[in-house]
Amino acid sequence: MIRPVSDTVLSAAHRLASAYLEQASTRHVGGQSTRDELLKALGGPLPIGGSDPVEVIDRLVRDADPGIVASIGPRYFGFVTGGAVPVTVAADWIASAWDQNPGLYVLSPAVAVIEDVVAGWLIELLGLPPNAGVGFVTGCHMANFTCLAAARHEVLRRAGWNVETHGLQRAPRVRILVGGEVHVSAVGALRFLGFGAEELESVPVDGQGRMRADALQAALGAGDGPTIVCAQAGNVSTGASDPVDAIVSIAHARNAWVHVDGAFGLWAAAVPELRSQVHGIERADSWATDAHKWLNVPYDSGLAMVADPAPHRAAMGLRASYLQRGTDEERIGMDWVPESSRRARVIPLYALIRTLGRDGIAGLIRRNCAQARRMAARLARAPGVTILNEVVLNQVLVQFAGENGTGSDDMTRDVIARVQAEGTCWAGGAVWQGRHAMRISVSNWSTTDADIDRSADAMVACYNARVS
Ligand SMILES: *Cc1c(COP(=O)(O)O)cnc(C)c1O
Repeated sequence: MIRPVSDTVLSAAHRLASAYLEQASTRHVGGQSTRDELLKALGGPLPIGGSDPVEVIDRLVRDADPGIVASIGPRYFGFVTGGAVPVTVAADWIASAWDQNPGLYVLSPAVAVIEDVVAGWLIELLGLPPNAGVGFVTGCHMANFTCLAAARHEVLRRAGWNVETHGLQRAPRVRILVGGEVHVSAVGALRFLGFGAEELESVPVDGQGRMRADALQAALGAGDGPTIVCAQAGNVSTGASDPVDAIVSIAHARNAWVHVDGAFGLWAAAVPELRSQVHGIERADSWATDAHKWLNVPYDSGLAMVADPAPHRAAMGLRASYLQRGTDEERIGMDWVPESSRRARVIPLYALIRTLGRDGIAGLIRRNCAQARRMAARLARAPGVTILNEVVLNQVLVQFAGENGTGSDDMTRDVIARVQAEGTCWAGGAVWQGRHAMRISVSNWSTTDADIDRSADAMVACYNARVS
């Protein structure tokens, strides 16, 4: 039933959303329903007639609730998952109400200008080259895709080949070097661009997962031709960043493009005392990052940044007679992203930067790093618990000892399952250099030190319950 605009349905949604946000810090963190139960509550035959919109919203919230994960809350440490600062949720509501399409300037002059403004702020925050192009994409995965498309364009252009018009099938071969700990997203993005996983040359890493610059030097020397090097800021397990400065020097000496996948780790650049971890980052050619992880804006919000705007636009831009372009200053959103129509996802990010400012953003990142160290220290005090990584950023890897007192994959897997079911907090698992580990990511604005202590204690209690 389509009703004219009335406050009723919007107020219902506002009331329910606000109630959810208020109790997100106290509810059981993980999902609590089976798939069958959720299907029973939410499914049913295709509705033939309509329903009252307020009832639709009420039922949606009631029926989905047991399967909603409090990933927005302060004790969710799974994957690398930011929450959402309240003002960004509010700004997101405005963005939905406006329902703007930033694909073309004429479709939304205001959002086109907001994108320009935020692009400038981001470049300053991260200390990147002032003329870099910025595309507002769904996430770091699409940011990797966008940046690597620009890289593919440029390295082939230098070899006399226009990949946008002539394609890849007869193009000169492109060498792609990645660290041994490359994120699957970069591999996936390269796959979309016509580069298969087995074509990538893997460069050895050190004990924290950082690409070894000497190994890169040797690997680059073993071949020639158009080359792309994929570096990483922020390993998803350890948080460690590749030595970007050395990588850029080595790669640029051979005319190679350096892309940095920095979904969360790139934000070290915005904190003075952490910037040394990504030293030289501004000398790279492209950077992919997320706002929906560490900057704590709602999904979906990724950022694709390319130092030279020309290959960025060459790889992405679309032209057709009806796609009206204005003056050169008027931003054409679709020149910078692999989408034509999309939502105005920049708006929550605009609100975040205005609300926190540079110092507030640095404070958020700094605080989460201190909390990760606090978590590691508190866990390490418990007998049988070992921290596997150097906690340099916001990631902590934990292993639990089995009956014989040494680190046990089975025990670690079991403790993770218990922690997830217990509900005080939520952490996932990963295999780190051959060992199963519990993986903790501290990336939420609302996490307090008390949340860290309570979560560490719950984890240790889950372990002790299993051991005894
Ligand atoms: C999360 C992550 C990605 C993928 O980002 P999405 O926002 O999920 O698209 C890519 N690279 C790294 C290092 C990540 O941590």
